[in-house]
Amino acid sequence: MAAQRLDGNALARQIRAELASEVAALVAAGGAAPALAAILVGEDPASEVYVRNKRRDCEQVGMTSRLHRLPASAAEDELLALIDSLNRDPHTDGILVQLPLPPQIDSRAVLEAVSPFKDVDAFHPENVGRLVHGQPRFLPCTPHAVQLLLQRNGLETAGRHAVVVGRSDIVGKPLSIMLGLRGAGGDATVTLCHSRTPRLATFTRQADILVAAIGQPRFVTADMVREGAAVIDVGINRTPEGLVGDVDFEPVAAKASWITPVPGGVGPLTRVCLLVNTLAAAKLRTSLP
Ligand code: NAP
Repeated sequence: MAAQRLDGNALARQIRAELASEVAALVAAGGAAPALAAILVGEDPASEVYVRNKRRDCEQVGMTSRLHRLPASAAEDELLALIDSLNRDPHTDGILVQLPLPPQIDSRAVLEAVSPFKDVDAFHPENVGRLVHGQPRFLPCTPHAVQLLLQRNGLETAGRHAVVVGRSDIVGKPLSIMLGLRGAGGDATVTLCHSRTPRLATFTRQADILVAAIGQPRFVTADMVREGAAVIDVGINRTPEGLVGDVDFEPVAAKASWITPVPGGVGPLTRVCLLVNTLAAAKLRTSLP
């Protein structure tokens, strides 16, 4: 039997509607609309598209967004000064620094400069630490998207074996932690695989939930997947045939019980999770001294 699709677009629409009514209620109660500040350094075409989409997403749910542009030649100090002013700006709830940054700028120093209370990407070490401790302030967007796809489709993680392939700081590593935390969306037994994992298929074939976050087109083939598994494809790879995931979709869909398409799976929900964090940041601001 072919796998059921986990439709990221439909779930993203549903969560956007939920967020829009929460924002409307906040504003009706006299609060300010949550405000996201996006920082774009240089003119990378892909980054331009990402930032435009994120700003449009904000507007769709009634949040405000402002774009701060710096030239590709900007010095690190210039960017740090902008972040400092946004950290102190009472009208800014969330700060997003679009990556990648030009080579003269140390990305790590920049991400650490963002106030942990406005860190809607959840990249600040304080927020990463809180996540590991099971007390997250914000959840990182792509791992949260994966978790929401599972939870909102009624796919239990507790007691299941989740195998995550890929250990990047933004996807695989935090997701492996989240799936192993106590509580809803967690309690899984987690195996984290990477490029140094020998005999990878022996691990992936044990997965009740298999997450591919590798960045290699159609890398996960049907022989690597257990019959009836839920397969979440985080990969976005540009190929001559268009966008494809890390999973060889058709043959794997014939074997799995659930599968995310690419595009239309994890991607749209990742964008929604940024809005979830921006609303959370606005709520934090109002409860802060
Ligand atoms: P990344 O930083 O390049 O990390 C890739 C990971 O895959 C690394 O941990 C690497 O292992 C592992 N890997 C590479 N080749 C492997 C192999 N042959 N066998 C096992 N593991 C292997 O990538 P990323 O930022 O996590 O992104 C992964 C994919 O997700 C990309 O296609 C990206 O475009 C996509 N993405 C999608 C979204 C979304 O919203 N849908 C968001 C972010 C990223 P090592 O650590 O050993 O090198």
